[in-house]
Amino acid sequence: MTFDNLGLMPQLLRAISDQGYHEPTPIQQQVIPAILEGKDILASAQTGTGKTAGFTLPLLQRLSSTSTRPRKRHPRGLILTPTRELAAQVNESVTTYAKHLPLNTTVVYGGVSIVPQIQRLRQGVDILVATPGRLLDHLGQKTLDLSQVEMLVLDECDRMLDMGFIHDIRKILAGLPESRQTLLFSATFSAAIQKLANTFLQSPTVIEVAPRNTAASQVTQIVHPVDRDRKRALLSHMIGFHNWEQVLVFTRTKHGANRLAEQLTQDGLKTTAIHGNKTQAARTRALKDFKQGKVQVLVATDVASRGLDIEELPYVVNFDLPDVPEDYVHRIGRTGRAGNFGRAVSLVSRDEYPLLKSIERLLKCSIEEDLIAGYEPKPVMPGEVHQPPAQKRRRRAHTQERPTPAGSKHKRRDRRQSRTP
Ligand code: AMP
Repeated sequence: MTFDNLGLMPQLLRAISDQGYHEPTPIQQQVIPAILEGKDILASAQTGTGKTAGFTLPLLQRLSSTSTRPRKRHPRGLILTPTRELAAQVNESVTTYAKHLPLNTTVVYGGVSIVPQIQRLRQGVDILVATPGRLLDHLGQKTLDLSQVEMLVLDECDRMLDMGFIHDIRKILAGLPESRQTLLFSATFSAAIQKLANTFLQSPTVIEVAPRNTAASQVTQIVHPVDRDRKRALLSHMIGFHNWEQVLVFTRTKHGANRLAEQLTQDGLKTTAIHGNKTQAARTRALKDFKQGKVQVLVATDVASRGLDIEELPYVVNFDLPDVPEDYVHRIGRTGRAGNFGRAVSLVSRDEYPLLKSIERLLKCSIEEDLIAGYEPKPVMPGEVHQPPAQKRRRRAHTQERPTPAGSKHKRRDRRQSRTP
């Protein structure tokens, strides 16, 4: 399968080839022809599957076929995303793929001045990428009018609902023409997503692709059991020991992200944090420095990291396990992308084992555990069953991190013991 088979116009094929893409990803193979036919789409696709190009390329083609000069404040394509970073990235992708077409795009999101956005909208745009809150601000100020929207994309819709945007989305959709084409992308098809789809999509084509980062994945997953108060030391040790160059570290809280970034900086690692309390300028700068290799470790919370497109990211570390198992899948989706090898490392303290169990249930497999010599958890209280006796644990020095076949934690313990010399 090549892009030529998908019915895309030469200007888009040139842009694709400029990007160095040789063949469409599975989601692209399915969604591009359906969108070109004018169908509404309900697609389950996670970040890393190539979904952005999947909706952007046919959107550009359809809008260029009805091309008129962009009218002030009246975009014809609208892409809604949950976070500012994702909005900025999607806008970058639209710009990239539209480079040989006479279509223009802009992005609006909160946390930055609204004035330049108003000026830009006044100049006329074909495609608008936006986060819901700032979009509503523009509608309220009448600096934007959605009555000419022909195509709407709801990107990472499950995350928009998780973040409480449902009312905003309903308000925004109420102002759109009914005759539009709607494309809904979501990592999961929850009941809430189905309900939204039933309300806002017309006889949609449903497309599901296997999440890259669960089954046939390029991501090696490993759990290092460690006491909570030793996690930071272990992380510094691992980064130094392996000479990891670009590490994305997840924490559960903003406070935790700040504290860890400070501690790692004290350990001599170039580290910065990215989370919702940082200004947009600081978040953008942090991401840029990380992408350019000026910062070695980026510590992020789930919301801030959502959709970050950092190519060829080799290492993702779960400093804390997420409360929601699906977030684990989103997190490790930052690595092993587009055919590259990736490693997802979780530092798991005893109190996090119930979370680990929920994650393994979701993944339908157990994640291999590996004790790092010198960082083994302290002996457990009598009656606790989380760890095998210390003398029976297998010690390994950071080698051979392989995924394991399916099995329960009980089996995993057995496995580990059976390997013990
Ligand atoms: P996305 O899922 O949209 O966040 O895309 C994930 C990454 O895959 C991005 O870095 C894209 O540039 C890249 N990508 C998208 N389509 C292709 C393709 N057909 N071949 C190779 N890489 C791609």
